[in-house]
Amino acid sequence: MSDQPDATPVRRQRRKKQGRTYAPCVACKTDGLPFAWTCRACDFVMCQECMQENLWGMTCNNLTWTCPDCGTENNFGQR
Ligand SMILES: [Zn+2]
Ligand SMILES: [Zn+2]
Repeated sequence: MSDQPDATPVRRQRRKKQGRTYAPCVACKTDGLPFAWTCRACDFVMCQECMQENLWGMTCNNLTWTCPDCGTENNFGQR
């Protein structure tokens, strides 16, 4: 566990390796997702559908969502 301060206000996008799909959604276990929300701090993966269903519990402003696993706030709109 690393406790690194989030000092950079710049939104960095972490590119997934080309040609690889996302890990299975933690909620519905769907594999081979063309797109999924991923936590930037841990391996949490959630597909678009589950995110919509769980939105009420994941976000309070529709701008960021909080990872239920590690509590890290992630931005919507990242690709
Ligand atoms: Zn799902
Ligand atoms: Zn996380």
